Amino acid sequence: MTTQRTLAIIKPDAVTKGVVGKIITRIERAALAIIAAKLVHMTLAEARGFYIVHRERPFYESLCAFMTQGPCLPMVLAGDDAIRKWRDLMGATDPAKAAAGTIRKDFAASIEANAVHGSDAPETAAFEIPYFFSSFELWPR
Ligand code: ATP
Ligand code: MG
Repeated sequence: MTTQRTLAIIKPDAVTKGVVGKIITRIERAALAIIAAKLVHMTLAEARGFYIVHRERPFYESLCAFMTQGPCLPMVLAGDDAIRKWRDLMGATDPAKAAAGTIRKDFAASIEANAVHGSDAPETAAFEIPYFFSSFELWPR
């Protein structure tokens, strides 16, 4: 087991739906530590920059528009195997294919409006965490 940090986002659909508390409860029950969190209403330019790896995908513009439709809640989670643990809690990208008991199965409406984001590798987390948080905002410092 390795202690890791990952970037999690509660996406605008889940914030608007009012399921932030339920999602955070699952994070706490999984013994992942929330070491930073804030509400952010991204501009289109900020969303495009965050999802730059997907710029060639057909869903890119629609995804970026969705991510700017309201505030989202980025967080940094820390713990043993945090990247895999958080992605296990999230479930598959498409809620129709997500396993029972996962966040996307329970709270997502579609493959696009799918409630949460999680870094998929240490290199991804290394890009995504500083996209939203400075080292000054991470606890413990
Ligand atoms: P995330 O990166 O948000 O944690 P993921 O790693 O499960 O999700 P990706 O393949 O990285 O999935 O896609 C990024 C996001 O783009 C998805 O979470 C979803 O919001 C959106 N997306 C992915 N595939 C599609 C699609 N076929 N149609 C519409 N939106 C999609
Ligand atoms: Mg991804």
